[in-house]
Amino acid sequence: MNPVSAGAGERETIPYCDNCDDPAVYFDPRLQRHLCEVHLSQDVERRVIDRLARHGMIHDGDRIAIGLSGGKDSSVLLSILSRVIRERWDAELIAITVDEGIAGYREETIQSAVSLTKRLGISHHIVSFQSLFGTTLDFLLTAHPLRACTACGILRKKALSDAARDISADSIATGHNLSDAAQSVLMNYLRGDFERLLRDSSRREDRGFIRRIKPLLDVHEKEITLYSMVNGITGMLPECPYATTAFRAEVRTLQAGIEYHYPGASLRIIEGQESLSKQAKKTVRPGTVGYCASCGDPCSGHVCQACGLLQNLNK
Ligand code: SF4
Ligand code: ZN
Repeated sequence: MNPVSAGAGERETIPYCDNCDDPAVYFDPRLQRHLCEVHLSQDVERRVIDRLARHGMIHDGDRIAIGLSGGKDSSVLLSILSRVIRERWDAELIAITVDEGIAGYREETIQSAVSLTKRLGISHHIVSFQSLFGTTLDFLLTAHPLRACTACGILRKKALSDAARDISADSIATGHNLSDAAQSVLMNYLRGDFERLLRDSSRREDRGFIRRIKPLLDVHEKEITLYSMVNGITGMLPECPYATTAFRAEVRTLQAGIEYHYPGASLRIIEGQESLSKQAKKTVRPGTVGYCASCGDPCSGHVCQACGLLQNLNK
């Protein structure tokens, strides 16, 4: 395998790892180092363990629900967490897959999730939009002029929270990575959505939400792809047919280009957002939190986003 970098494409071919005599598969442009399969894997795992420890994300006795789509991010997360937890904590990991009902895409990723959980011996629950909301995402989008990823994201978040609550989970782990997080910050800027940009998600738990943890937040998307390949975690999987229409797809290209030309830019985008959010916390009073009149979930309006969306469709 030729070395690849965290930027948008191959930059140079340097054959050996900086830590050993094995061929390099990855060039890290920020730290200017080359890593072989083994040292890349160790480095990714170390960053996950550091983040878990630094933010006190896991405690003995925890029941952790992991959102497992079957794609590479959540599959890599499950694979690393299952080992790390066994070695360090007395905690339980339960995988939850949400089937949105996307023909030609979800079937294969669900299969991949099923075989991974079997291989790792992790208990696995599958919930569907059809059984929870009485419709598939495909049907919803043919019948209503909705933005696919917005509707999908709102309903999937609710499906995952409800499933995690059903199994009395203490936290929900998701596979969001460094590239995703930088893209989300850029998207909020570009939409002018400063409420969301400045939101302090660390306090959600005090407000009745199940704690959400993102252990891959120090790892680039490209590093996760490579980790998955060299450790044989997922094979080639189809892409969601709605992904190309998403705003995120354009922002991803933008973010990858910036990271390629200015290594470390994604990290700085996130650090900038965190310090803005801290400043805002000193001056802006947090909004009041109540409970959804329809489902009882914590939310800031009269009904939560998911119930609001479903009610609008039935009007
Ligand atoms: Fe849902 Fe959009 Fe992701 Fe497809 S790309 S699974 S529609 S959020
Ligand atoms: Zn609700």
